[in-house]
Amino acid sequence: MSRGRFLRKQVEKRSAKERVKELFVKAAGKRKQGAADRLVRKARRLAMKHKVPLRQYKTLFCTHCYARLVPGENCRVRIHKGRIIYSCLTCKKFRRIPLHGRPQPPSKRISEKTKSAASPKGPTPRNARTTERHNAST
Ligand SMILES: [Zn+2]
Repeated sequence: MSRGRFLRKQVEKRSAKERVKELFVKAAGKRKQGAADRLVRKARRLAMKHKVPLRQYKTLFCTHCYARLVPGENCRVRIHKGRIIYSCLTCKKFRRIPLHGRPQPPSKRISEKTKSAASPKGPTPRNARTTERHNAST
């Protein structure tokens, strides 16, 4: 892809992102389920065309039947084994979303582990000295 075309596509993607957001807001405000579902479908089609991720909207629509989800109306929300479960009452399928986010890649996890292991052992030598002095004075 030439540079010019790439930049043009980037601009298109940005406007598509905003349009997708608008469509989801509109769908949430619709009272009729059918009208809201049409808006969701429109937003999804636009997102696919411009490769806009729909990650942040995943609790707003059913990924199986593309119905707009309203908890208490056509969707059941439960927590089970550390996951939020969104059951669509239209197609009876569900989606599980981890409560505490995704587990981090191993390399990151190890570095964090070493960090957390080092900190509870105690403050750095300089801090230790100051606390010692503090203890001596009191
Ligand atoms: Zn569904």
